[in-house]
Amino acid sequence: MSNIVESFKKIKSNIESLKPTKQVNIVAVSKTFSLEQIKPLIHYGHTHFGENKVQEAKSKWQEYKKKNQNLNLHMIGKLQSNKAKNAIELFDYIHSLDNQKLADILSNTQKNINKFLKYFIQVNLANETQKSGISVNELDGFFNYCTREKNLEVLGLMILPPNNDNSKKYFQLLDNLNKNLALKELSMGMSSDYLEAVKFNSTFVRIGSQIFGQRT
Ligand SMILES: *Cc1c(COP(=O)(O)O)cnc(C)c1O
Repeated sequence: MSNIVESFKKIKSNIESLKPTKQVNIVAVSKTFSLEQIKPLIHYGHTHFGENKVQEAKSKWQEYKKKNQNLNLHMIGKLQSNKAKNAIELFDYIHSLDNQKLADILSNTQKNINKFLKYFIQVNLANETQKSGISVNELDGFFNYCTREKNLEVLGLMILPPNNDNSKKYFQLLDNLNKNLALKELSMGMSSDYLEAVKFNSTFVRIGSQIFGQRT
């Protein structure tokens, strides 16, 4: 069996050993890897994959996905408004919803092409200027805007914690914010910290290098 599948199974069993109360979905982050490299995991039966660039994802997945409609594609990277239409056409989930202009465009495009996605609102908990995400003090207003005025189906919150910092405190904070909004899903945890994230009730972990190996 391929190394990729072995790595995936190990991650799955590590998660199961924590006995999470909710189902934890593994989003296999396949950015920079070719479809040929990814295929062993698809053939194994895994259906959730993540990409961070619309253009790369389109050339990699568009044709393949037409013939394999059980696949779920997750957009996990910064989404520019001018790529929103392509993103709606290709993806099933967007984890990086973080501003009103983007919400407006996504909402309109969904209606125009009659395809409705699932969303996570990305939160910038550490107020890092270089990072995307809505700030905590704007979160309630933005959540209401997206769900009530724009009819976007928001499943939960998403975070990319600051590098070289203690992820745990951000996971705890995000779990609390998610509960305050009565949201059911939570997108947090990557290769280095997914078990910690699951301890704080993450239900979508986004894992790349632990599955596919180091990116070059
Ligand atoms: C690349 C990426 C991941 C996966 O990172 P790994 O450390 O390789 O697991 C998760 N989330 C986002 C937003 C990413 O861009």
